[in-house]
Amino acid sequence: MGRLFLVNLEGKSYSCKHCKTNLGLCDDVVSKSFQSRHGKAYLFSKVVNVYAGKKEDRMMMTGMHTVVDIYCVKCGSYVGWKYEFAFEKNQKYKEGKSVLERLIPD
Ligand SMILES: [Zn+2]
Repeated sequence: MGRLFLVNLEGKSYSCKHCKTNLGLCDDVVSKSFQSRHGKAYLFSKVVNVYAGKKEDRMMMTGMHTVVDIYCVKCGSYVGWKYEFAFEKNQKYKEGKSVLERLIPD
């Protein structure tokens, strides 16, 4: 792997629990009422410094979604997932958005 170019977020943000890399801005939080297998999770309209894993269809409480797991670009830790596609009409707002969990506030 070559040199990493990390995005530094301006403003109040959330960071990777392991290496403190900025992942998402407080201003970009769409919902704080998400639940993951590990506890509380937030829905972000935009995240940075992550890379995506393999696309897969996943059955969730709110129906079937096509998602990719996302990982911290610096330390490789699993940080959450991104919605690529929502099968249910009322879940379409999630498409292109990401859920982050195990975060530390700035
Ligand atoms: Zn990290």
